[in-house]
Amino acid sequence: MKSTKHDEATPEQQVELLLSGLAIGALWEPAGHGLTYMKTGDREVELMVQQDNAESAQSRVRLGILMAKTGWQVKEDNVQIAPSENLSPQQQYMKEQMKRQEIAQSTWKCTNPDCGCLLSAFPLEDATWLLVGQDKITDDEGNEHDAEIWAVNITCPVCSTLISMEPLEFAMLAGDDLMMSYRTPKVQLEALDRNTIVRMIDSNPGADNIIITGSFCPFSGALLPPHVRGAVVMWKGIGEEEE
Ligand SMILES: [Zn+2]
Repeated sequence: MKSTKHDEATPEQQVELLLSGLAIGALWEPAGHGLTYMKTGDREVELMVQQDNAESAQSRVRLGILMAKTGWQVKEDNVQIAPSENLSPQQQYMKEQMKRQEIAQSTWKCTNPDCGCLLSAFPLEDATWLLVGQDKITDDEGNEHDAEIWAVNITCPVCSTLISMEPLEFAMLAGDDLMMSYRTPKVQLEALDRNTIVRMIDSNPGADNIIITGSFCPFSGALLPPHVRGAVVMWKGIGEEEE
């Protein structure tokens, strides 16, 4: 969004801006370099993954020097070398998503420094989604849109610390399956894929446990987060028996 400002900045300034803007635990994957870094401290990053090819190895050296010059410590004690493959952009994307999820699930921890419980061990199905504000975003054509800002709260099962995450981070941690279901105060909504819809309607035409969602839960009136809107979902009253 602020690309003009970035273009004028020196590489050192760009790196500084980028890294200092990341939360600790966030990943940085500079496009096209085959490298995955994680910010692990105030002035520290750790290289997690390098692709097994010459370009990636060279980028690793160049970026390492650049970050060191900018005052960032780069840890490289535990770098996973990922085999290079000829993948389609779609496959490459899926693979990178899986890798990010793996890192998130195996390294993101409770923010209580005395605890250390992995976030993947939290009861993620009990997460609560909260609308925390409104923002204006400008799209590529320069049009302004309202954007809702949501946060996802999860609670540590060990020390009860409440952790507030960005939806994208939560999605990465929780995975697709958990993102397909959503709990409102009265019902559990389960997004259905096409095959399941066909199967359910064939066996029960006009099934009344299937609805199409808008912005609000028709049972409780609760505002639904964006990823739950405009979907074909099956609903089940909370506390009802499974059929
Ligand atoms: Zn904890």
